[in-house]
Amino acid sequence: MVTIRLALSALAVSLGYYLGANLGFILWFPPAMPSVMWPPNAILTATLLLTPPRRWWIYLLAAFPAHLVAELGVVWPASLVLALFATNCSEALLAAVLVRRFSDAPGRFDTLPRIGAFVLGAGILAPFLSSFLDAGAVATLRGEFYGTVWRARFLSNVLTELTLVPALAILVTAAPAWFRRAPWRRHAEALILGFALLVSGIVVFTSSDFAAIPGIPRSPLAFLLPLLLWAAVRFGPGGASLTLLGTVLVAISAVTHGYGPFGDLPARDSIHALQILLIVMAIPLMCLAAVIEERRRAEQALGERLRFEALLSRLSAAFVHLPSHEMDEAFETWLKRLGEYLGLDRLILLRVSGNGWSVTVSHSWTAPGAPAAPSGEPCLSNGTNWRQLLRDEPLPAPGRSDLVIPLVAGGRLLGGLVFDGGARPQRSATLPGPEFRLLAEVFAGVLARKETEDALRASEVMKSAILTSLNTGVAVLDRDGRIVAVNESWTRLTREDGAMTDVGVDRNYLQVCQRRAAQGMAAANEVLAGIQAVLAGSEPSFAFDYAAGAPPAERWFAVAAVPLNRPEGGAVVSQADVTERKRAEAEAQRNRQELAHFTRVSTMGELTASLAHELSQPLSGILTNAQAAQRLLRMPSPDLVELRDVLADIVDDDKRAADVIQRLRDLLRKSELSRKPFELNGMIHEVVRLLGSDAVIRNVTCMLELHPEPVFVIGDRVQLQQVVLNLLLNAMEAIGESDDGNRCIVVRTGSELGAIHVAVQDAGPGLTDGAERRIFEPFYTTKPAGMGMGLSIARSIIQAHGGLIWATRNPERGATFHLALPVNGQVPA
Ligand code: ADP
Repeated sequence: MVTIRLALSALAVSLGYYLGANLGFILWFPPAMPSVMWPPNAILTATLLLTPPRRWWIYLLAAFPAHLVAELGVVWPASLVLALFATNCSEALLAAVLVRRFSDAPGRFDTLPRIGAFVLGAGILAPFLSSFLDAGAVATLRGEFYGTVWRARFLSNVLTELTLVPALAILVTAAPAWFRRAPWRRHAEALILGFALLVSGIVVFTSSDFAAIPGIPRSPLAFLLPLLLWAAVRFGPGGASLTLLGTVLVAISAVTHGYGPFGDLPARDSIHALQILLIVMAIPLMCLAAVIEERRRAEQALGERLRFEALLSRLSAAFVHLPSHEMDEAFETWLKRLGEYLGLDRLILLRVSGNGWSVTVSHSWTAPGAPAAPSGEPCLSNGTNWRQLLRDEPLPAPGRSDLVIPLVAGGRLLGGLVFDGGARPQRSATLPGPEFRLLAEVFAGVLARKETEDALRASEVMKSAILTSLNTGVAVLDRDGRIVAVNESWTRLTREDGAMTDVGVDRNYLQVCQRRAAQGMAAANEVLAGIQAVLAGSEPSFAFDYAAGAPPAERWFAVAAVPLNRPEGGAVVSQADVTERKRAEAEAQRNRQELAHFTRVSTMGELTASLAHELSQPLSGILTNAQAAQRLLRMPSPDLVELRDVLADIVDDDKRAADVIQRLRDLLRKSELSRKPFELNGMIHEVVRLLGSDAVIRNVTCMLELHPEPVFVIGDRVQLQQVVLNLLLNAMEAIGESDDGNRCIVVRTGSELGAIHVAVQDAGPGLTDGAERRIFEPFYTTKPAGMGMGLSIARSIIQAHGGLIWATRNPERGATFHLALPVNGQVPA
């Protein structure tokens, strides 16, 4: 197909060359060389300007036989004919090379730089240089005068190049489209112009009798100017070059026949005068036409751009507030609108999947009658694979009908816009790169927003799934406490709670709490204050447990609130049924007390000797006094005063024994944790007294360094007594192990730094490395018969009182155990 086209065009060039040469001969004044106009060179120049350099040799070769046929028929010798072909070719080649060097579009004459390059390169320089060769050949081979030949050839070739080359190039390239597309009014105008030019040309150049201006015998050349200007202004470079060519042909045929404004001059001079005149007219006219064309195109491009920008702004306005789920429909509409506007076959929106290089068609529009998209690997209708385009071409090549603009937002490739123009010329080709960039930016922005909104919606649908699956009730409050949203568990729990049944969406949670508080629900007051504090930002969070209903159907609920991290404020309130947890806690507490009681009982076992000794004293006192009383009563006149004393002693001893038993009963009593204020020093005295006999047996002294003032503690006296008892027993056991002379225990009480301190210091073997912590763990013991529960229970008792217990190693020997208890029940720092 390409070869046939090439062969046909070569044939056309050959024919053109032959006809051109013959026309040249018609315009020839023998014997002088050369002709007034010599078209073959201009025909070759136009051909070379319109074809790629790699094919030039074909056209030059095609012209050769035409040259031989045309010129060998004339009387010239073969050597001259060959030399002239060489000079003709040299002119065309010089012209083509020079114009190509300086013009961005060698076959076009529609801007000032392009016409400038043409006039200078093809119009002046090429004829100027090649004429030296030509004149040399003619002068050598025909003996003509070099200077005369050079001048004649130069002028004739300048005129031909200037007038014929643009006319030919425009006729071949732009004229067919103009004839097809231009409205009939333009055709009519062109016809009128052509006719007017012909008439004026004939009048100006041929009529020697017709005097348009009285007194002046010939019509002036200026008569032609308005028509040439008309052509240049209204029909651009094409119109200008064709009218110039017409004028030149009329003028030359007139002059060669002895007519025209220069009729009085000798033939050669009048021809040169005409050539110079026409050259001088042609150059500014061509420039004028080019400038006007340039303006017109700039105006057109501006108009096109404005229309496109208006379309773009409508496009971005259409998407700016569009929620992502409505975008699909809008994409369809806008792809159609843009595709129609740009005159495309197809406009396709591609999406690139998140991580990989996977491209899918997101939306597409196909013009009615355009070929359907090929199946399989996505391709443009001309076969180009768009993955390739997306990868290789970051920006569209202007003027191409198949282009893919990558859609990039935030440095990430989101997709592409495929402009498939098919085979038809379309509007997108006239739009410059920046316009496409804008279009790409709008689409990329929309895609990025859609992606974000879709991801957000997807995450919300997850989020809501989590909320639904939660057993905990969750309610979202706005800044004023109004419930904005709740999950299913919230509705269920507030129903089960019984107190908060009407707490649903749109209700004000704070008002509900206020009402419940007014109805006497104490917990509502706490919840109200806590949530108000979170909403106001004065507290980072709030948590509170409350009981609803009465035992045994008592239910426990935990309510918590955290602020919502958003500018408009608000809070998330959660409510959970913690009845099971509360039951487990109560059970654990009961178990702890059982264990504490058990250890107390077993401690008492250890104190048997001491207790027996404590009791034996008053009992033996009672026995002795009772026997004395019996003796007194057996006397005939008993001494009643002595008897009263003896009985009083018996009562005292009995009281003492009862006291011992009462203290034992207190310790062995199984009771719930109570919190009452009691005096600490007194309690310690009591424990030391209870251990008194034991201490004697173990040969241990107990020194008390108690706070001089009474020290009051709030808590369970029996349980704290158990702790002190335990510490003293451990201390005595530790001293029992050591053979050192110091067998003293020091018990101190004091009050400092907002806490009440008790310290039990011994001079036993002390604690091994790292034992300070481990001794408080359950079942940690170093004694063969020990259980390892004493200190662990002591710790849980102290912690239940909000206090702390710890052990330190003494600087010299032994260990000291410390208790810190809150003053007035408050936790020490
Ligand atoms: P038990 O007395 O049954 O071993 P405890 O919990 O009362 O259980 O004590 C745990 C361990 O702590 C003891 O076995 C002992 O090793 C260590 N301990 C307790 N008091 C002292 C003390 N005053 N001096 C040295 N070690 C002690």
